[in-house]
Amino acid sequence: MKSIWDLDGTKYPKLTENKNFDILIVGGGLTGISLCYYFKDTKYKVGLIEQNSLLKSTTLKTTGKLTYLQKDLLTKIKTIYNKDIAKKYLSSQINAINYIIEIINKENIKCDLEENESYLFTTNKNNTNKIIKEFNLYKEFGIDAKLLNKLPIDIKINSCFKVPNTYVFHPLKYGYGLLNSINKNNNIEIYKNTRMIDFKKYNEYYEVNLNSNYKIKCKFLIIANSYPSFIFPYLFPIKTKIEKECVIVEKTNNNLKFNAINIDKNIISIRFYKDYMIRVYDSNKLSLKEINKSITYKDGNSYKFSNYDVITLDSLPIIGKIDNNMFLATGYNTWGMTNSNIAAKTISDLILYNKSEYENLFRSNREFSLNKSLNFFKFNLSTIYNLLLSKISLRDKSTIKYINGEKYGVYIDKFKKEHIVKLTCPHMKCGLFFNTKEKTWDCPCHGSRFSIDGDIVRGPSTSCIKKL
Ligand SMILES: Cc1cc2nc3c(=O)[nH]c(=O)nc-3n(C[C@H](O)[C@H](O)[C@H](O)COP(=O)(O)OP(=O)(O)OC[C@H]3O[C@@H](n4cnc5c(N)ncnc54)[C@H](O)[C@@H]3O)c2cc1C
Repeated sequence: MKSIWDLDGTKYPKLTENKNFDILIVGGGLTGISLCYYFKDTKYKVGLIEQNSLLKSTTLKTTGKLTYLQKDLLTKIKTIYNKDIAKKYLSSQINAINYIIEIINKENIKCDLEENESYLFTTNKNNTNKIIKEFNLYKEFGIDAKLLNKLPIDIKINSCFKVPNTYVFHPLKYGYGLLNSINKNNNIEIYKNTRMIDFKKYNEYYEVNLNSNYKIKCKFLIIANSYPSFIFPYLFPIKTKIEKECVIVEKTNNNLKFNAINIDKNIISIRFYKDYMIRVYDSNKLSLKEINKSITYKDGNSYKFSNYDVITLDSLPIIGKIDNNMFLATGYNTWGMTNSNIAAKTISDLILYNKSEYENLFRSNREFSLNKSLNFFKFNLSTIYNLLLSKISLRDKSTIKYINGEKYGVYIDKFKKEHIVKLTCPHMKCGLFFNTKEKTWDCPCHGSRFSIDGDIVRGPSTSCIKKL
């Protein structure tokens, strides 16, 4: 389903030979492209590979808020760690906003950047305390936050506060602006339709295998594919999970200059773009049937699509070194407009200068107290539940076929042609559900998605599903 941000694709080739790079970036979302931006004008020969088209995955379906008001993340981080770490996280987000604005101005990127205030609210009186706690932290950290009792829009709320100096923009126009300026440099090569399958580590370099059977050798390898697919694939899901949310975009007569998000169980997130109102709601809580029912496409100018992001157990992103010369950027907790920038800045600083302001804050091997993160089991419960459900649930019978005792999914297109694929996700062997609106086979455990012919639409799986 089309996102409101969708623009014509960029024209990059597929890689059709073996290559050597100093730095290889895997993933052409906002993180990968921001990394290229920070490496342009350096002595390094840099390659970026994207398995599909650039900027067409999570980044395409964001709401494009550039804000440091990120639900009650500060309270969560303070509870798991301490006030200093919460403050440092806040400062990283404010810095990211400033870096992005600097880039937009320097490169003259026309991305509909608009300053507007961010609101955090609750519609549940039991959560008023949470709002006050978060508000107090912002005040304590020197933010000019203001407590209010209503939003600029007609939603009945219990309490809210707002903060200044936050923005909204058009994420794809920003991404394409970065690409324009990267394209002027010949130290960077970008390839689309080029997928990393796996890698081997040698003393001085990494050798990356591609789906095309070609190989890339590189000294530094950066995994910016939104999920830690290549690193302990069976361990990382303990620290991270996938959150799926639905986005509804509808015409409105009121373009109000604010954005808002709640802290309640059922997410409500709002922003405006031109004469559209963009709303997000949480689809983890909904059954697949309900999701599909709610994503009925309307004719005309309304868009409905879903998006996934990687959530971490301790509410901090995972950014930095995971091996000598291998780096990872993931776990943005649905705040990747700012975090993709800070990830790119952190990793490029580590490679270029061997140090970064945020290397300790975001390192992947940070220790945190599991018992303070009370949600540990609850956190992983939805993944386990989805895994079990995917094995036992009765899906739409018309889409299932048993061949030699194995379960296959069948999609019949409008020409009555059958598209038959094996219904097991190669990543962690969960069963797949058919997403009737987006016409993909989706893994409910970690968010991999496959086309009706089994090709990967998004990871973490790095292999396609078998087509019959
Ligand atoms: C509903 C929703 C709303 C959101 N709204 C906001 C918001 O308002 N503000 C905000 O800050 N954040 C928001 N986010 C989060 C933000 O959109 C994401 O965190 C961000 O876009 C992630 O960017 P990325 O580059 O890391 O990942 P992606 O955009 O997913 O890019 C990763 C790329 O890697 C490619 N890839 C994967 N595997 C391979 C492989 N093996 N080989 C080659 N390429 C590969 C993929 O095809 C993909 O293009 C939202 C998230 C959701 C779910």
